[in-house]
Amino acid sequence: MYEMIAGPATTGAGVTWHVRAKGDAGTTLCGQQTAQTVRARPLSDDAPTERYCSPCMSAVHERMQSEAR
Ligand SMILES: [Zn+2]
Repeated sequence: MYEMIAGPATTGAGVTWHVRAKGDAGTTLCGQQTAQTVRARPLSDDAPTERYCSPCMSAVHERMQSEAR
């Protein structure tokens, strides 16, 4: 299973949503340390600066495809 981790945005303000595999404590799929996570907020929050980390999304895609085989 995977979980979403909100981390500081790499560009500008707001947060970036990373993906972390459960049991893989501390490191996101894109290799970032998540020690400095920000407070999680509901996805319905209307902050326009929230976005998803594309390396994490790609990694999830690849893992899901390899697990589906
Ligand atoms: Zn990431």
